[in-house]
Amino acid sequence: MADQLGTRRGTRHAVVIGGSIAGLLAARVLAEHAERVTIVERDRFPVEPEPRAGVPQGRHLHVMLTGGQRALEELLPGIVGDLREHGAPVVGMPEDIVQWQQGRWYRRTPATVHFFTGTRPLVEHLVRRRVLADPRISAVEGTEASGLAGDATRVRGVVLRERGAGRNKPPRVLEADLVVDASGRGSHASEWLAAIGAEPPREEVIDTGLAYATRLYRPGRAQDDGDFKGHYLIPNPEQTYGGVVLPVEGGRYLVTLSGLRGEEPPTDGDAFEKYAERLPHPVLRDWLAKAEPESAVHGFRASSNVRRRYDRPGLRPAGFLATGDALCTFNPVYGQGMSVAAISAVALRDALADPRRTPTTRRVQRALFAASRQAWDISAGADKNMPGAEGSAARTRPADRPVAWYLKRIQDRAPGDPVVGSAFRSALALSTPLTSLFAPPVLRATLFGPVRGTPAAPPLHRESGAE
Ligand SMILES: Cc1cc2nc3c(=O)[nH]c(=O)nc-3n(C[C@H](O)[C@H](O)[C@H](O)COP(=O)(O)OP(=O)(O)OC[C@H]3O[C@@H](n4cnc5c(N)ncnc54)[C@H](O)[C@@H]3O)c2cc1C
Repeated sequence: MADQLGTRRGTRHAVVIGGSIAGLLAARVLAEHAERVTIVERDRFPVEPEPRAGVPQGRHLHVMLTGGQRALEELLPGIVGDLREHGAPVVGMPEDIVQWQQGRWYRRTPATVHFFTGTRPLVEHLVRRRVLADPRISAVEGTEASGLAGDATRVRGVVLRERGAGRNKPPRVLEADLVVDASGRGSHASEWLAAIGAEPPREEVIDTGLAYATRLYRPGRAQDDGDFKGHYLIPNPEQTYGGVVLPVEGGRYLVTLSGLRGEEPPTDGDAFEKYAERLPHPVLRDWLAKAEPESAVHGFRASSNVRRRYDRPGLRPAGFLATGDALCTFNPVYGQGMSVAAISAVALRDALADPRRTPTTRRVQRALFAASRQAWDISAGADKNMPGAEGSAARTRPADRPVAWYLKRIQDRAPGDPVVGSAFRSALALSTPLTSLFAPPVLRATLFGPVRGTPAAPPLHRESGAE
């Protein structure tokens, strides 16, 4: 079979480019199918959970959604317990958060979904520890992939360049019968494919120019005037500033402020706190005024939604796959990337193990694509409506209008109606499919139900025993 993954005798050696969350989880799955798996990583892994150069987003807030937790636990049983043990806080929605969206405060009714809010380096550290404990998986650190070996019909390995080895050391080829690109948002796979005569994937882009600025804080002593764990002020087309405060391990909080192109949050400490005055309510600025900063402010600007259509026909080699951010990356405001990396690894596992179908490259790539579709529909669907959205996929189509109309009714009702709110949160948490928003009780409440009352001021206390 020309397009079968690996060789006729099965995959002997699989190489994964990028040792971050998507790469580690793909390696975990491939270890069940290949004789050995090598992860090629540009960085050297830190011994402790620390930010590293290859993952610059690691200093920013990272929530692990319910759907991601479930997938992670399937792949690495016990990992959710590890997160808890290492102090990653659990936040229940809507109970624990003072949340504002489109002019309304959410009622703080009992939680229907729970997120982990531990730092990104902690999550990666715990995943890496478990994955690299598998003797079938090894990592080549401090080494960069700089191309593919093979031709347009089949990939035969990866061209490697040791970092800091100087110009005299020639690149070497690491032979493989399966190569997985998990090198993140900045993947060079399109150029690598073109260099071996294959067709790069078409890219879909929606870019709102959103910029993040994040700083670590210790809460002030005078901050115990409520029972909330954080704040979440969500941007929308009329009010484009965002603000989030969430707890991380060690009793500290990460605070992120965001704004669109031309209104980017500053990375100077005083200006950062002043920028919080642009939010639609002073509640977050007041929290900051009582808190103690514990780090510099870190900025991040590359926030576009980018999807590479490897699932579409084209002259592409057998034995090459893309996953994680290298396949599909999202506006980070929706907190999806790590969860999609885990859900994609489960999809890879299922596609490789499907007894009914030969796992051809195209079939497996399509399964990976499908695993990111819901997150894309949420993120790209919302971003299309933001002012100044640009890119090849930014245009709204007439068919988008009824969906946008229905979603607006859902958003109007979610803050005050527990039925609609619960369905909305589960879908956003990648825990239930988007079609669950059309289940009869949700449909009824959305089409015919009233917009229920919501708190007039930021709810600093949870509603005990609320419906
Ligand atoms: C500001 C921000 C906030 C975010 N917040 C959230 C959130 O709240 N929740 C969430 O789930 N997700 C969030 N994400 C997304 C999340 O960070 C990623 O989806 C997640 O890290 C998985 O990405 P990945 O493993 O595919 O790639 P990355 O984490 O980007 O890792 C790519 C890896 O490949 C390595 N690499 C790159 N090129 C090469 C090469 N040529 N050779 C060898 N190695 C290479 C890099 O060093 C790195 O280790 C956020 C992203 C950003 C930017």
